[in-house]
Amino acid sequence: MTERELNLIRNLSNAKAPSGFEEEAIALVREALADICEVQEDSLRNLYLIRRANTGDKPLLMLDAHGDEVGFMIHSIRPEGTLRFVNLGGWNKGTLPGTAVKIRNRLGEWIPGVIAAKPPHFMSTEEKARQGVADYKDLVMDIGARSKEEAEEAFGIRIGEPAVPATAFFYDEARDVMQGKAFDCRIGCAALAETMRRLEKLDLAVDVVGVISSQEEVGERGASVAVERVNPDIAIVFEGCPADDTFGEAYARQTLLKQGPMLRFMDVSVICNPRFQRFVLDLAEEKGIPAQASVREGGGNNAAVIQEKMKGAPAVVMGVPVRYIHTPGGICAGEDYAAAVDLAVETVKNLNESIIKGF
Ligand SMILES: [Zn+2]
Repeated sequence: MTERELNLIRNLSNAKAPSGFEEEAIALVREALADICEVQEDSLRNLYLIRRANTGDKPLLMLDAHGDEVGFMIHSIRPEGTLRFVNLGGWNKGTLPGTAVKIRNRLGEWIPGVIAAKPPHFMSTEEKARQGVADYKDLVMDIGARSKEEAEEAFGIRIGEPAVPATAFFYDEARDVMQGKAFDCRIGCAALAETMRRLEKLDLAVDVVGVISSQEEVGERGASVAVERVNPDIAIVFEGCPADDTFGEAYARQTLLKQGPMLRFMDVSVICNPRFQRFVLDLAEEKGIPAQASVREGGGNNAAVIQEKMKGAPAVVMGVPVRYIHTPGGICAGEDYAAAVDLAVETVKNLNESIIKGF
């Protein structure tokens, strides 16, 4: 992993870009690839990265990674100046109280706040026993305002504005551990950008378009538009996917940190084309690139939309394992990101029209 790649990962993780507000994330990818791609954008905040060497008469491969992250939207301001909010995407709600957040105001500034948690001193015995969080409507963000008027006038707060955790990216280089937020799917966005760069100089039997798609966390809405526009014949979907190596029974763990990208045979939304999936796993073995496979009992991703909407275009998911996705702080490893890029590049290099038809 080069300094350039690490900087992009850092900036992408720190970018404040929940579903519907992807601007900061896609601006970073646009800037990273503007010298080698034709870049387009639509009003849903899907970013299209078109390889300059595309000829138009080869099968078209789409690389996808979603640009959004799970986040929040301000719902209303309470009389005492705290902010009610709704979720953009599915959080582990129990992790939210006490989380530092940033909330965009009417001037576009990001105001620091905290998701309020009652000090134990004020909790009843019943509340202490429960500890959990009942519902989003019981949670508020506190920016230090003392009234609704102060929140609006001095802090510039208004409803409909986005908020995200204030988690700052940190990389422990000696141990190759990254900590931060939004690795789902910004580590995938970084892998997509690096894959496009590594493909730049190669002579390929496929055309390539990269898409940083929007609003995945609220139901794959960006990808369903992007796929119609790109009209791909085959796709690789990058993800920051949930690592399971700290949960459950050892025999059933399938997405471990530092074991390479995870390719899912299926999740709740999709059965990834089994022949394409096997092709990629065999290639990983042949080239000595670490990779792992899983059969997911939950989850969902953009491959479902691509396979279903696009005349059944085969799709696989290249997932960089991330511990604790959909919470304010995740953990992933640089070597898994690097292996995902290596495997994606090898896959693209080895695809051609007859192989794709065989899937
Ligand atoms: Zn997610």
